[in-house]
Amino acid sequence: MRDRPSWLPLPPPAARKRSVSSAPVRERTAPALATDGARARMIDALRRFGVRDAQVLEAMAQVPRHLFVDAALASRGYEDVALPIGHGQTISKPSTVARMVELVAEPLARAQRTSARVLEVGTGCGYQAAVLARVFGEVVSVERVRGLHEQARANLRALRLPNLRLVFGDGNLGVPQAAPFDAIVVAAAGDAIPDALLEQMRLGARLVAPVGSTRQSLHLVERVEHDRWQLTILDAVRFVPLRTGTV
Ligand code: SAH
Repeated sequence: MRDRPSWLPLPPPAARKRSVSSAPVRERTAPALATDGARARMIDALRRFGVRDAQVLEAMAQVPRHLFVDAALASRGYEDVALPIGHGQTISKPSTVARMVELVAEPLARAQRTSARVLEVGTGCGYQAAVLARVFGEVVSVERVRGLHEQARANLRALRLPNLRLVFGDGNLGVPQAAPFDAIVVAAAGDAIPDALLEQMRLGARLVAPVGSTRQSLHLVERVEHDRWQLTILDAVRFVPLRTGTV
């Protein structure tokens, strides 16, 4: 096949070589300018959706989402849809990622974000972890499926984010050795928010998590006193389930 000029739109999925899901980011190809344009349009769409936080928008303008999904789906990488990432899991849609990151970032000024430590439960392909790492000082992300934990590591290598630590484990237990956290983002829906996560919040910290099974809603929790948490129930959402143990 002849080399494609870089301004051509992404080739249709059938024309793209299907990469093994653990292929590192830098080995996958996509015309850089076409994806830059698609990413800029995604940012415009997020603004129209109501995302206001400049730092969250900047972070999402920088992280190449198409490199976190299977190469066959890369041309859809900037649509506002959840896409499969293998192991029966999905990458959250961009508007959901933006909404969750914005919710936990909101009370923190830029300077505070630089020193904030954030926990993500459910690394998946690592996309949201990369966005978080561009907004906050330190990010710890835990994943229970070893294959995904390793896939995320491969996806993230080329982005060189020294402030992001990936942990393999059951996120229901949090990551006690890295606690307390200034913010916690849970990317899978349980019937309730695990106690360990509530305990690992610093005083004043925020946690955002989908809760429920057939009907889910986004729960925003603030630790307002040492032993008092305040709950606000927000939008209806659709997430994969929060499971227990590791596989
Ligand atoms: N933030 C991810 C979204 C992944 S979907 C992204 O940007 O792609 C949710 C993820 O949560 C899945 O990878 C799933 O395996 C993981 N998960 C579910 N239960 C978990 C648990 N108890 N601990 C850690 N990860 C969990």
